[in-house]
Amino acid sequence: RHYNFCAGPAAMPEAVLERARDEMLDYRGHGLSVMEMSHRSPEYVAIAEQAEADLRELLAIPDNYRVLFTQGGATLQFSAVPYNLLGRGGRANFLHTGIWSKKAIAEARHLAGDVHVAASSEESGHSAVPRQKDIVLSEDAAYLHYTANETIGGLEFDYIPEARRPDGSEVPLVCDMSSSILSGPLDVSRFGVIYAGAQKNIGPAGLVVVIVREDLLDRARDDMPSLLGYRELAEAGSMINTPATYSWYLAGLVFDWLKGEIGGLDAMNALNDRKAGKLYDAIDASALYANPITLRNRSRMNVPFVLADPSLDKAFLAEAEATGLLNLKGHRSVGGMRASLYNAVPEAAVDALIAFMADFEKRRG
Ligand code: PLP
Repeated sequence: RHYNFCAGPAAMPEAVLERARDEMLDYRGHGLSVMEMSHRSPEYVAIAEQAEADLRELLAIPDNYRVLFTQGGATLQFSAVPYNLLGRGGRANFLHTGIWSKKAIAEARHLAGDVHVAASSEESGHSAVPRQKDIVLSEDAAYLHYTANETIGGLEFDYIPEARRPDGSEVPLVCDMSSSILSGPLDVSRFGVIYAGAQKNIGPAGLVVVIVREDLLDRARDDMPSLLGYRELAEAGSMINTPATYSWYLAGLVFDWLKGEIGGLDAMNALNDRKAGKLYDAIDASALYANPITLRNRSRMNVPFVLADPSLDKAFLAEAEATGLLNLKGHRSVGGMRASLYNAVPEAAVDALIAFMADFEKRRG
């Protein structure tokens, strides 16, 4: 196996893949694969419930939050959030910090018409997130949505924003945490809704995890498709229809790996600090590589960098791949390189990347 720096679908923990392989044909003596189980069977319901319990334990999710395992990618949540939270009127408020927040804004606009951008980092070229003092919600804000980690830009919030209207009243904080959930401990009680596409730190694509505060389950628009409804999903145990059963099972194996092998989110946090820290140090110390993000907002999960001479890009990528370092090409919209260092990317992968980058610079820089 090679080292995979893909932004998503991303590297999976090797121990999880091995366990899935061992259980693939015959799940613990039941005589069939998890893939072949009815989602209503006691075996599968136990798998699903254990996954939720482990996620609750990892993130210390308070009892007044519901955890949903749903589908449609994080992208469908761009619509699900306004459908679920704008039923009593008010306006969706956003922090605009890059490509993913922009997509979320566009979907809300499409559905609800007017939205309010409470702060934007556009002027800085999305190189630093807005400061709390620069966030100004509208008087009619129904909620504030932000993107904790901009996967493409490599820009990460270093704080949890406060969501208050100008009159001081608080509104629910909604967070797209697709590319940073489970990278470290989190105070879930600060949020109204957290959602994340699974294919980075949770498991395979095809699954979305939503964590929603119970008191927000009765704000939905009447015209909402029931499959998008947080209340409907919560009441049906996320089984209104057939869920992404195998992805849910694999997510459960990832949660178990985080608890057991890694030792929880404090340990994961320290490991992520170390991995990203050494890569940024190497970039900063070199004359060939550069990262434009303000230090306090540099993403630990996605490290974009450019080469001083872009004509070397092709050679860099080809040689990296030949060395077993995969998927380092930056997003097509920004170019350059991007190394995604999600939870499952081992420290040895980062060490190998740093060694390759130094060697490449010595030969070609
Ligand atoms: N939000 C963020 C921050 C992402 O990184 C991504 C995907 O990469 C998405 C949303 C969209 O996720 P999906 O492809 O699951 O719809």
